[in-house]
Amino acid sequence: MALQREKTAMRNQTPEKRKKNFNEVPLGYNIDEAINEANRCLQCPTAPCVNGCPVEVPIPEFIKAIKENDIAKAIDIMKSKNNLPAICGRVCPQEEQCEQVCIMGKKNQPVAVGRLERYVGDQALAAIEKQADTTNQADQGTTTRINKKEKIAVVGAGPAGLTAAADLAKEGFQVTLFEALHDTGGVLRYGIPEFRLPKGIVDKEVEEIKKLGVDVQLNVIIGKTITIDELFAEDYKAVFIGTGAGLPKFLNIPGKNLNGVYSANEFLTRVNLMKAYKYPEYDTPVKIGKKVAVIGGGNVAMDSARTALRLGAEEVSIVYRRSEDELPARNEETEHAKEEGIVFRLLNNPVAFQGKNGRVNSMECLKMELGEKDKSGRPRPMAIEGSNWMLDVDSVIIAIGQNPNPLLTSSTSNLKTESWGGIIVDGSLSTSIPGVFAGGDTVTGAATVIKAMGAGKKAAKSIMEYLSN
Ligand code: FAD
Ligand code: SF4
Repeated sequence: MALQREKTAMRNQTPEKRKKNFNEVPLGYNIDEAINEANRCLQCPTAPCVNGCPVEVPIPEFIKAIKENDIAKAIDIMKSKNNLPAICGRVCPQEEQCEQVCIMGKKNQPVAVGRLERYVGDQALAAIEKQADTTNQADQGTTTRINKKEKIAVVGAGPAGLTAAADLAKEGFQVTLFEALHDTGGVLRYGIPEFRLPKGIVDKEVEEIKKLGVDVQLNVIIGKTITIDELFAEDYKAVFIGTGAGLPKFLNIPGKNLNGVYSANEFLTRVNLMKAYKYPEYDTPVKIGKKVAVIGGGNVAMDSARTALRLGAEEVSIVYRRSEDELPARNEETEHAKEEGIVFRLLNNPVAFQGKNGRVNSMECLKMELGEKDKSGRPRPMAIEGSNWMLDVDSVIIAIGQNPNPLLTSSTSNLKTESWGGIIVDGSLSTSIPGVFAGGDTVTGAATVIKAMGAGKKAAKSIMEYLSN
């Protein structure tokens, strides 16, 4: 059989159609497409793809099971390492991880590990739904496990906290997961939009974690509602902090306080968590006007721009101070944004916002050129003197990064942090307080879902070792 050099294509909603709705853009593989793609895997004995994955999913094994059309086996293999496959298959930057080191990718396109993972994750959820339909209610009531080992508190229901909670509950610990917001998922819920990660998927994967016996307590802000010390007084034997990086960075330039200048955090939270995307079904609209500028070039910027388009903006620009080569967003997001007509104003940087009656109406930018590499390893953007130009805007969304949320750290004495707010941990993710562990964005700064999950897994192991001593 001739070698298929390119990944098996995934069907998408057309750009014309999708920019008018919030439905998911890629439609997923069917079984024939999944088997076709699985057949491209060389089953390399060294399997570098596994080392490229922060949670070490046994990639060749699950792909082999798909090849053999044994999807139940593929699900079991996947779940042995990854509790959130339908989510990771959708949002992981595979091109920088497993797919980057795939042997097939040396001369051809790599195996589409992410698309296959999504297929397996979706089949797992479909199988659970089917089982629920055929099981009577009385039986279902007994599916949540009762765990007996020590009490452990997990703070934050994002990917780090959910993963730590699941791994600890699987080992029989009594896990309580405390979440400040009124819903679980962290950025998966309030940040990543519906058209990239449907909330129904997050709901279902979180439901599976609850069935492991994890007790989820919503609307509890650790550090305010109850402190870490009080958790220990309530007989919790260890604490994992996975509170993420929810504190937006702002541009310190004239006009930053004008109405219509949003942080991406506020904008996306209002659209996703407060359901502005479902207006008028939900009475929580976000008014953005016709011309929107998004400052930044990462996933958060792409999500904000594509969301603004779907809310009805006529011209949405990405304003980024470096060039296309340095755009930090996942390739797929950038491609999708371009297809949808987002305007890329690269090598530009805003220097002031102007407004009328307190509301922003234009933005002054400077053109940039690239210099030597800076500490981040990327070329330093340098302003071209006298290159100022004006862009008319009705709204501006700032997506230039986030730092860890200081709510918990500022109210917990003896918890050591970096100057930028990250919690300091050692190699086992233990903090400066005995019995308190931390991981995910609150330690690393804004990173990725799978890295946060990897940290959750590592912390769960360390907590078990700590308790066994
Ligand atoms: P979070 O997901 O931030 O979860 C932390 C949770 O802790 C939150 O629910 C928060 O409410 C809760 N919390 C905070 N303080 C307290 C407290 N004191 N008490 C109780 N609870 C508290 N990564 C990818 O891999 N791929 C992508 O495509 C991608 N897109 C992104 C798009 C956007 C818009 C954003 C913002 C991020 C994106 N990321 C992406 C990054 C990724 O989502 C994060 O790296 C990941 O969610 C971090 O997980 P976490 O569990 O550490 O923190
Ligand atoms: Fe398959 Fe690529 Fe992993 Fe080799 S490196 S086993 S081809 S996914």
